[in-house]
Amino acid sequence: MDGASQETQKAVKWYPPAYDVRVERVPVPVIEHPDDVIVKIQLSGLCGSDLHVYRGHEGVEKEHIGGHEFVGTVVSMGSSFRPDAVGRPELYSTLKVGDKVVSPFTVSCGECHYCRVGFTCRCTRSILFGTPTLPGGQAQFIRVPWAGGTLFKVDSIAVPSADGSIPHLTNSSLLLMADILPTGAFAALQALQHVKNAPMLTAVPYPFNGYMPNILSAGKPLPLPLEDRILTFAVIGLGPVGVCAAVSLVDMLEDIVQSTRIPYRVVTVDPNESRRDKMQKIATNLSLSQLGTIRVADIPEATQVVGEWTAGIGCNAVLEIVGNNSALSLSYDLVQPFGLISSVGVLQEPPLPFNGRQMFDKNVSFDFGRCPVRSMLPIAAKILLNRQNVFGDVGGECSLIDRVVSLDEAVKSYELFDKGMCGKILFDPWI
Ligand SMILES: [Zn+2]
Ligand SMILES: [Zn+2]
Repeated sequence: MDGASQETQKAVKWYPPAYDVRVERVPVPVIEHPDDVIVKIQLSGLCGSDLHVYRGHEGVEKEHIGGHEFVGTVVSMGSSFRPDAVGRPELYSTLKVGDKVVSPFTVSCGECHYCRVGFTCRCTRSILFGTPTLPGGQAQFIRVPWAGGTLFKVDSIAVPSADGSIPHLTNSSLLLMADILPTGAFAALQALQHVKNAPMLTAVPYPFNGYMPNILSAGKPLPLPLEDRILTFAVIGLGPVGVCAAVSLVDMLEDIVQSTRIPYRVVTVDPNESRRDKMQKIATNLSLSQLGTIRVADIPEATQVVGEWTAGIGCNAVLEIVGNNSALSLSYDLVQPFGLISSVGVLQEPPLPFNGRQMFDKNVSFDFGRCPVRSMLPIAAKILLNRQNVFGDVGGECSLIDRVVSLDEAVKSYELFDKGMCGKILFDPWI
């Protein structure tokens, strides 16, 4: 497929200024740089962020192929992909035509400072798929730049069978790896890895966790009793990312319970009743150990439950998945002194709803920002495998994906999704 392609493919193109998508025949992408890979798409996603462009809210002025979520197989690789590509990200020497891959919603080169230390969402070469700069996944083929750093091989988590499918791992669930599952897992991991939660996880009181000045020869502190180690969390916002955050958090806490026997409690919060209903069904499906408790609540109930659980102290950490000021205010109210707010909701320009004095008075920590998806993929993949009973289904009462349709139904699908008349839609470009 190298060189100027005369072949055409089916794709969904967005046209300015707004509400105009068309299914058209466009050229099949070709290798433009030695680090490129061409992927034949098996499924692509229609995401809430696509609606910002669809509605004309992102200031995009040029038509382009939409979509930033895809799973597919490698059909063509640039000349950088060869067995002796040493000193570069591993895939440059190991990727093969036919390999099944997923990708983060942005390119991450794997070689700049940010990529090397794991902060891949701040890659200096980052480009978002589904923009005028980089055609997206709502097509039959896609070009992936810096593909050795960007792509993730699915068989690194499970061995595919002869027909290319992964046992116990549905294709549709792999779409969640592009964006929402790693983002939810990141919100949870950021909270559990935070230094202020270390005393509860290790039974060693602050400040004797982590770095210690070597001039200090303090005696060993007594281990914390179990009553000081009980973990309490809130997850605010139960859209698809919030569900992924809640499931990821429970998955990680169950892992912690196995080695520490620390009890934990999670309250998941949303004012929207249908979202709470779905979360309730998912919570029932999670099969928690006896040391785990999960509650689904509206906002007044959440405040009450956290108050009862912690004798008014508050949560060790709050996962904020919404990205507006009312969610941030609730997070501040629910978090305990020396607690953490782990915020992955995309915040806009209004000033934050608390002042410096309020933050001082609670010793509260904040972690804001976009998920480094490429770094999170191995962890998200493990959660995806563990929790196929939640993520594996399409159109079920627990599933995050509503339906799989042909690209020919794209115009209608955008309309329905925009009006909130359907859940998440995937495109199969070959039906
Ligand atoms: Zn997305
Ligand atoms: Zn990079």
